[in-house]
Amino acid sequence: MKRAFASVPLGLFGGTFNPIHLGHLRAAEEVAEALGLERMVFVPSAQPPHKLPDRRDTLAPARLRFAWVKAAIANNPRFAVDGLELERTGPSYSVDTLRTFAARLEPKRCVFVIGQEAFAELASWREPAALMGLAHFAVTTRPPCREGFLKAWMPSTLAGQVELAADGRSGRHRSAKTWIRAIEITPLEISSSEIRARLRAGRSVRYLLPDGIHDEVVQSRVYAPAAGRARRPGASRAPRTHKEGR
Ligand code: ATP
Repeated sequence: MKRAFASVPLGLFGGTFNPIHLGHLRAAEEVAEALGLERMVFVPSAQPPHKLPDRRDTLAPARLRFAWVKAAIANNPRFAVDGLELERTGPSYSVDTLRTFAARLEPKRCVFVIGQEAFAELASWREPAALMGLAHFAVTTRPPCREGFLKAWMPSTLAGQVELAADGRSGRHRSAKTWIRAIEITPLEISSSEIRARLRAGRSVRYLLPDGIHDEVVQSRVYAPAAGRARRPGASRAPRTHKEGR
């Protein structure tokens, strides 16, 4: 199989970012470096369809999550944030976002960045077959996973669409001709859910959150136990289990 990858200027990094943490930033930095991207655009999900409400957890208002992403990336000229999912109503489906970017740019000039554990659930997202033809895919390792084997992560219902290289680390969409690559990144075992759990317990989240937003996130008390939380219009209960994917 031909191993050359088309050069793409733009990375799209979707996520709930509830809140953004150093694991997100490092993953974005390493993918941008590995693929020589001109820009990495963070796309916060307004209404994540893959997260079910849970009484014990909080989904911070989308505008707040967006503002934290904006502040966290402010000193990196290669990073940007796009609020297009906040401007749409209804669940934030990635396929709609990729269609918007595919229409804005020349076709196949974007690479969608996704963690290996999210990629493994891609079959439960909206229009998964269409997704993989709308952009190239960079699939990153995430602890406890350390090695980049697409072969192991590929949802079985989508496997027929992609011709994998012999080493199982890259592939090509059979009809759309988009490529897919596994990218091994520095393992940082940080998650938003662990950060929220620490905040609920009144524990430190310093050096897990970017310095620039640490005080703001803590002082907002958005993730504090309900009794101590300032009432914030629009805050909703939140993400724990996966249902239909984004
Ligand atoms: P939660 O714990 O609430 O489920 P999360 O930490 O997984 O949140 P998301 O906003 O859901 O964060 O993740 C957005 C994207 O970033 C996903 O593709 C996910 O795989 C990736 N990602 C999140 N944390 C890391 C990390 N520590 N290392 C590498 N990739 C990560």
